Amino acid sequence: MANSDTDYALALHGGAGAVAGRDYAVTEKHLRELAEECRGWLADGRTALDVVERAVAELEASGLYVAGRGSAPNSAGHVELDASIMDGESRKAGAVAALRDFVSPVQVARGVMEKTPHVMLAGDGALEFARSQGFTEVRDPLSYYKLPVGVTSDDIRGQAHGTVGAVALDTHGNLAAATSTGGTFGKLHGRIGDTPLIGPGTWADDNIAVSCTGTGEHIIRAGGATAIAFRYRSGISLHDSIAEMLDEVKRLGGDAGVIALTRSGEIAMPYNSQGMKRACVSTTTPLTVATFA
Ligand code: ASP
Repeated sequence: MANSDTDYALALHGGAGAVAGRDYAVTEKHLRELAEECRGWLADGRTALDVVERAVAELEASGLYVAGRGSAPNSAGHVELDASIMDGESRKAGAVAALRDFVSPVQVARGVMEKTPHVMLAGDGALEFARSQGFTEVRDPLSYYKLPVGVTSDDIRGQAHGTVGAVALDTHGNLAAATSTGGTFGKLHGRIGDTPLIGPGTWADDNIAVSCTGTGEHIIRAGGATAIAFRYRSGISLHDSIAEMLDEVKRLGGDAGVIALTRSGEIAMPYNSQGMKRACVSTTTPLTVATFA
């Protein structure tokens, strides 16, 4: 689909860790409602950056996905959160990694982007920054975090994963992307995946916005979102740009999914895992929600 600069478009994901045969009706309903809300914000002229931040903050707060409230403890017994956000026009970006116990890591990531000269803060430094800026802390981790929909305690013992993300094109013609995760279950203390990395996990420029999900170690080694963006910039189609990155992830032994959106309003949401919770809508595309093929 090719659109004028006054059109808008949006895609959301709730992670590529969906397991075939499980019931994701609750997350599909939530994604549908959220995509509908985002459509309204975009139609009202809100910026892509505001919309992806707000969408990801709602996904984090829902507790339905492996991000924010739905995050599980690492091997040391505590939750460490990763998130990133990028504005396409200015290429400004912010990220937090291994952040403990804040309600919205993506909001802290935007804070890093706007209030510091840096792109990423990690661990204790991220925590100190988030406190200094007054972001909302999780006061009682034991009662706050909950098992997301479609995740079992067996997953927590294994290496299951999940993440949330959003990409948007606003009516001013700007793109933005944001991603947030609790990471892989059972991860080592201090482990950081692709999600907070500007480049592998999240990317937005004047041409394309991308948010990745899947096994972070493989996504990083396959180049992730920037590998897609640079292929696309060189003239390769959106479909092929993504397929090449996903094939590389597979070849390295992982699986992944991508949501991507171009300046012309073309949307792609492919994955090579069992399923990916996802939704999209644009001026010319009816609202679509799915988990499996
Ligand atoms: N990419 C995330 C990570 O490795 C997990 C996921 O997307 O499911 O932390």
